Amino acid sequence: MAVTWSAEHPPPTSALAVAAHPDDVEFGAGGTLAKWAAAGCIVHHLVCTDGSKGTWDAGADLTALVTRRQAEQREAARRVAGERAGEVRFLGCVDGDLEADRATIGLVVRAIRELRPQVVLGHDPWKRYRLHPDHRNAGLLVCDAIVAARDPHFFPEHGIAPHRPDALFLWEADVPDHAEDVSATVERKLAALEAHESQFETTMHAADASELGTFRDRIRSRVAEHGVPHGVDAAELFARVTDL
Ligand SMILES: [Zn+2]
Repeated sequence: MAVTWSAEHPPPTSALAVAAHPDDVEFGAGGTLAKWAAAGCIVHHLVCTDGSKGTWDAGADLTALVTRRQAEQREAARRVAGERAGEVRFLGCVDGDLEADRATIGLVVRAIRELRPQVVLGHDPWKRYRLHPDHRNAGLLVCDAIVAARDPHFFPEHGIAPHRPDALFLWEADVPDHAEDVSATVERKLAALEAHESQFETTMHAADASELGTFRDRIRSRVAEHGVPHGVDAAELFARVTDL
């Protein structure tokens, strides 16, 4: 299938990123959100699960882990957006057990209607061979919630006016068709990722901050590769849907 790449999206005034876990937003769209925030965009986060599977320590205190990961997500949001950091909300679904059921869709719809973002971002639920069910279900949640949030007869019990965003950006896209130049914000993306200190071992394969070099190189080379076909030093790729 031939892909027609769209031009850069004008920075929105507000954005809501919907993730399965703490740290997914920074991997998927940290550079883009940092760029938009620098242009004045308010950046909101909605994290669906509690991140309670995010450790290899079988004896870990999971309640403490959940609290720690929420604090890390708030710090990451601050590093991405600075003064333009908006709300950071947590649905608190159990990590690994996220479902795209009606009740959970309603929770995402409520966030969209209350925060009224111009752009919504989330996981591409149709990414082939990506095994994690939370990423697939978080993607389905964001797509289904976009449809329901815009029409008044879905979840009328919310008592909140419907809201139709201008665009949906799906990161980890199966067929990306949109690149955002993040040359100026790669370091902010990295700083935000590194706010997730509890994930140094499992995700970044580093015992502590001094061992993050390989991880940084991996992220820098990935965004650099994505930038090459678009003539920029670094890019994040998305499937962009504007017919909402
Ligand atoms: Zn994740």
